Amino acid sequence: MINLHNHTRYSDGDFTIEQIVNAAERGGLSHIAITDHFETSKVHSLRSVQFEEYIREIRSAAKHHPDVEVLAGVEIDTDPSRCNLEELPIDMLNELDIVLFEYVDGEGSTLEELEPILSDIRPLRGIAHMDIERIYFNIEPDKVANRFQDFDMFVEINSSLPYRRYGIPFYELASNYFKAFKDQVRISVGADTHHSLTDVVSLERPYHFVHEMGLINDLLFSDK
Ligand SMILES: [Zn+2]
Repeated sequence: MINLHNHTRYSDGDFTIEQIVNAAERGGLSHIAITDHFETSKVHSLRSVQFEEYIREIRSAAKHHPDVEVLAGVEIDTDPSRCNLEELPIDMLNELDIVLFEYVDGEGSTLEELEPILSDIRPLRGIAHMDIERIYFNIEPDKVANRFQDFDMFVEINSSLPYRRYGIPFYELASNYFKAFKDQVRISVGADTHHSLTDVVSLERPYHFVHEMGLINDLLFSDK
């Protein structure tokens, strides 16, 4: 199991990197990513001046926990009123393994608007906690799959409580879209951990969905 979306005290999470990675290793995850908010006024977030320390701490936690792959990442707020997207330090982002983008094609920027950044970013990049069924309600699932392919973006299945409508997770509401993603779009699973270490490994519902949709081979790192 992978969990590629987790916050720490570097942004608005309650735990240290070490605590998150330790929980992941004890819970038997194969991959865990630390993805703190970066340079956004939305919440307390990681700043560029702390970046090298942040990376060092993640790499050091990885060394101490050899049974889980530890990825360094951030989450970028694509709302330009809160994050100065044009000034993002691309060289720093390229030291990471994974970059998440939130509010894409919704209240934040479109993929077209992000293209200048995306074309310079080398790590895995993906779309976090998107309400796909609401945002693309008038676009065929196949076309949405093509769109994510064209921009080389994976799509996250996010198990966190805020990302629901009528109490149902966004990804379950978008099951028709996820069916179209099979063999087309890479899929990630993220808990969006902030305040509970249990969240790090509470992935039963998203993994049930992955199996039901036949997406197990589309998961990031499924080839490992
Ligand atoms: Zn998040």
